[in-house]
Amino acid sequence: MKFSERIRMFMKGRYGADELYNFLFIVYFLLMILNTFLKSNIVRVLELIILVVMFYRFFSKKIYVRSAENQKFKRLKNSLIKPFKNLKRKFKDKEHVYKKCQKCKTILKLPLPRKRGFNKAVCPHCKSKVRLFTLKKEKIEIVKASKVK
Ligand SMILES: [Zn+2]
Repeated sequence: MKFSERIRMFMKGRYGADELYNFLFIVYFLLMILNTFLKSNIVRVLELIILVVMFYRFFSKKIYVRSAENQKFKRLKNSLIKPFKNLKRKFKDKEHVYKKCQKCKTILKLPLPRKRGFNKAVCPHCKSKVRLFTLKKEKIEIVKASKVK
């Protein structure tokens, strides 16, 4: 049997790389660079732990468990990034107002108010009314749809 075939056989039914794996790899890499200056034993142990976790997950046959871990990691990552994403959007886009629908939590992109006064817009996602200032006649866009309907 060829070597490449043997590797393929070995990897059959094993989990392999995912987003969490890539993240750990980056962390490992950064720690490695950091430690060329620090030369700390604690960091070295940390590196080793990360490496063991990476390999363990990569070669694991419990695909469902590993995939659940990855989902958990992605959820955590998204919840950490989310506030920054909204901030970035606010700074970049001066032409629109971003508002969260109170009912279905969808983030809506609304045209800027033309003049003062309250008005109602309809959330395109859940069809409930969103209270806001008077708007130009532009289409309301969904930025991030919620899963609830
Ligand atoms: Zn809604």
